[in-house]
Amino acid sequence: MNTAVAARYSDGRRAGDEPVALTFLADGTVEIRGETFARTEQLAAFRPAAPLAGVPYFVRLPDRALLEIPRSPEADAALGAAGYRGRLHRRLEWLEARAVAAAVCTLLLVAGVALTVWFGLPAAAARVARSVPADLERRAGNFAFDTFSQQVGGGVTLPAQDQIRAARILGRLTKARGDRVKAELIFRNLNVPNAFAFPGGKIVVGESLYLACLKEPQGEDLFAAILAHELAHVESRHGLQLILRNSGALVAMAVITGDLSSLTAFSATLPILLIQQGYAREFETEADTVALGWLRAAGINPTALPAALQLLEKMRPKSGPDFTYLSTHPSTDDRIKLLKAAAAAPAAPPAKP
Ligand SMILES: [Zn+2]
Repeated sequence: MNTAVAARYSDGRRAGDEPVALTFLADGTVEIRGETFARTEQLAAFRPAAPLAGVPYFVRLPDRALLEIPRSPEADAALGAAGYRGRLHRRLEWLEARAVAAAVCTLLLVAGVALTVWFGLPAAAARVARSVPADLERRAGNFAFDTFSQQVGGGVTLPAQDQIRAARILGRLTKARGDRVKAELIFRNLNVPNAFAFPGGKIVVGESLYLACLKEPQGEDLFAAILAHELAHVESRHGLQLILRNSGALVAMAVITGDLSSLTAFSATLPILLIQQGYAREFETEADTVALGWLRAAGINPTALPAALQLLEKMRPKSGPDFTYLSTHPSTDDRIKLLKAAAAAPAAPPAKP
């Protein structure tokens, strides 16, 4: 029997989305029909991110178009056929249950919604993130890292000399910027090539990502480019902003009372936010720009950054769930093109006499 489900569709190139009707056909294909277009996909090509209670499915299609499918019994049944219920997913659900339990506070939620309407949550989150003292930032980041370690696991198998070599690359970058970010590189055998930056400076790197970089010519530069991008997320406090953007209540409390004491508890949500949503597009753009500066300061050719993204693009799975670097650091061909142009441009155009 065919199942029809309403969804929203964005083509991944233009801003905004539009309503579409999905028809799940008995032969394993899905018809996506919008006002101005229609396309057909194999259900097997759907790679829904691990769903959370009450949160829509986000399905990234092979050409980067994105479907947002509200939860319903019909959607659950139709996507169950393409769903992913691996170990990581069960761990994420456990994590989510804990985070939600910590987050329930009706009054503050109402205030959070009001704040969102009045000021815009991203702007308020950015302001609050800037006001977080460094020691609280570090505590929140460490708590998020501990939660990540417990839930995602993964030991370290990388030989000591590789870890030392990688730490030297990180040191070269941070030193070039006067050690203003106190970063710590932590390797994990993650099964997927990915990297995660935590507030305060802990940067977790999947061993496979590092090893893939080092197989390439100028591999150290490629790895430095990824580290520079992660350092930029730390420096620009994107992790904190991500936590805050997803918690209107916390932002409301911070703005109204100046109280940020529950930031650490809320930071337990960061790993799942990173894995589930990744960073917002504007955070990626900002991190790219800042990263080019880090690379130039360290005397590394900034074209290493677009080259690293192209390498990571090749490492994405052709089917099945995608938890690789570019799934959590949304990338487009446009991003790579812009980066290539920016990296090739002179660092600072000479001032006119
Ligand atoms: Zn990123």
